[in-house]
Amino acid sequence: MSAPSPRPGILNIAPYVPGKDSVEGKETIAKLSSNEGALGPSPKAMAAYAKAALELHRYPDGDSGKLRAAIGRHYGLDAERIICGAGSDELLNLLVRAYCGPGDELLYSRFGFLMYPINALGVGATPVAAPETDYRADVDAMLAKVSNKTRVVCVANPNNPTGSYLTKDDVRRLHAGLPANVLLVIDAAYAEYVSRNDYESGVELVDQAENVVMTRTFSKIYGMGGLRLGWMYGPAGVVDVINRLRQPFNVNLAAQAAGIAALADIAHTDASRTNNDIWLPWLSRELQQLGFDPLPSVGNFVLVGFGSRERAVAASDWLMNDGLIPRLVAGYGLPEHLRITIGTEAEVKAVRDSLTKFAVKQ
Ligand SMILES: *Cc1c(COP(=O)(O)O)cnc(C)c1O
Repeated sequence: MSAPSPRPGILNIAPYVPGKDSVEGKETIAKLSSNEGALGPSPKAMAAYAKAALELHRYPDGDSGKLRAAIGRHYGLDAERIICGAGSDELLNLLVRAYCGPGDELLYSRFGFLMYPINALGVGATPVAAPETDYRADVDAMLAKVSNKTRVVCVANPNNPTGSYLTKDDVRRLHAGLPANVLLVIDAAYAEYVSRNDYESGVELVDQAENVVMTRTFSKIYGMGGLRLGWMYGPAGVVDVINRLRQPFNVNLAAQAAGIAALADIAHTDASRTNNDIWLPWLSRELQQLGFDPLPSVGNFVLVGFGSRERAVAASDWLMNDGLIPRLVAGYGLPEHLRITIGTEAEVKAVRDSLTKFAVKQ
């Protein structure tokens, strides 16, 4: 008798490695490795979370009805076409499980979010990466990779870890080039941070097409990654499919309560956005002046080039030694870069000070 073996593809998955959260023997000054939202959660969300403790014996609302209604009101969307999930990761995974299987292809761009190829391999499908141009998804290169096996196309907009984005015209051109039976998943985890006129999160396209879904999260600007809460907005047909496949109580009680409170605290969300509007360009400029190569970003993080793998690792070690935790992104095929989350004023200034000394030493 041989041991149980998993379905084909699963052993090809390199497990996702989350950002580090501590440095051995060092006090952590700032965890800037997971884009968690500089200001943390809204105090109102924390209060709602604490209050939920009194109801922990109750099952949560199975279809997150009040939360969906609150999201619908907040973003002006039909709540019937929203599904909430345990992080947008859960929904991205469900979409791939529902629409992709053995022999199928999932298309993404070379430096796209790592969970896309992981989800594809998990269902026995083949992840297909299209090359990027200047660390930005290339619509023509993606369309050139579409085959009759393509079932799902995943694009993060803005993209993590590069911070680049596709304009609304780019996304529409990508969609227009896809066959109607291919599902386009627009992962807009950082949409709330973007203030460009030529950007849209995907809502408009979802409303116009049967084969487009947008996913969103409470983990980034809302600062609630620890709770695991995300949502998707899609056409009725896709929503019906995912509602059949998802677990009946996939979003916990405390997350639903905190999510509703977080949406209502507009001042907190605005403060988070303002923090980013100030310190993202500031840190990018400072790092450029130090001779590093920060890529243009519209997210709450910046991808910084150090010229070589050795120097990127040395810079990471240097920052960690100062209690500042960046993200190594070699797993994305970017060994010469570090991704640094935009923290508070004190945190980004600590990064600048640390890398100033690094630049002198090296
Ligand atoms: C952080 C992130 C997610 C996952 O968010 P959760 O809602 O916490 O699962 C999805 N996509 C991208 C591009 C991200 O950076």
